[in-house]
Amino acid sequence: MDRLKNKVVLITGAGRGIGKACAIKAAEEGADVIISDVERNIDSVPYDLSRTSQLDDTEKVCKRLGVNVLKKHADVTKVEEVSALVQDAVDRFGRIDVLINNAGIGAPAGKPTHDYSSDEWDILLNVNLSGPWRVIKCVAPIMLKQQVGSIINIASTAGLLGYKHFAGYVASKHGLVGLTKSAALDYAMDNIRVNAICPGPVYDDEFVDGSMTKVVADSLGILLGEQEEIDLQSVAMNTVVSPTDVAEATIWLGSDESSRVTGTTITVDAGYSAK
Ligand code: NAP
Repeated sequence: MDRLKNKVVLITGAGRGIGKACAIKAAEEGADVIISDVERNIDSVPYDLSRTSQLDDTEKVCKRLGVNVLKKHADVTKVEEVSALVQDAVDRFGRIDVLINNAGIGAPAGKPTHDYSSDEWDILLNVNLSGPWRVIKCVAPIMLKQQVGSIINIASTAGLLGYKHFAGYVASKHGLVGLTKSAALDYAMDNIRVNAICPGPVYDDEFVDGSMTKVVADSLGILLGEQEEIDLQSVAMNTVVSPTDVAEATIWLGSDESSRVTGTTITVDAGYSAK
């Protein structure tokens, strides 16, 4: 279990859900980790964002695995906070080998395209698309100096397909897939790889405080159990994806095993998008 040994991995949105699973998995694989999250609510986002105690728990679990951990608040909508995060990471570890651009919001949603307010539209694009761009803006100069790095953007099957009443989220994730391809070309000659992972419906795993399925259910005005049933029916395999399944893919993309892979998207969706 040392596929990321001697590597430094920065994960945004590490307080819960997929980001937390990625941090724990990276630590299990021997990486030192920088874990970051927003830790406060944002206007126009209709659900509670992560709490400080959740990022503290990610830190505790990673430290127990014997790796070095830097924990720091950063809102990916604020370039000065992202810049401070990256500076602290470099001051502490001297390098960043892998960036997992995971921070994202699943709502506002649940309405036809024209019913989004300007604020609702803007916040989806600002967090889910401009957020990863801001982190790349700050991390790329470090990786260019190193002449090596792996950037992993957590997109979604919503980056490949349309979802009724989720236009803002879908547009942001399609944008993230486009950003991935162009950035991959920008940095290919510098040995910096840029790829995206497109998870399908991921279940709300209690171990990592996952809550996105509930966010989707609430947006559509249905019960969590109903959304879980819809998700199960929509995948090809008789099981939905866990946050750890997504984290496993980040380990491969972050490791030297994928050293010739760039500019691509990997779906982790139990066959959802194959139908
Ligand atoms: P989650 O539990 O809500 O986690 C998202 C993380 O991003 C949270 O820790 C969240 O912090 C953080 N975040 C939100 N806004 C932020 C900001 N402005 N700055 C910094 N961090 C911010 O959701 P998840 O399901 O794990 O989602 C993780 C990623 O996977 C997202 O990009 C999502 O779009 C993508 N994804 C999820 C699914 C799914 O079914 N779960 C499927 C496909 C793709 P807070 O906790 O404070 O919100």
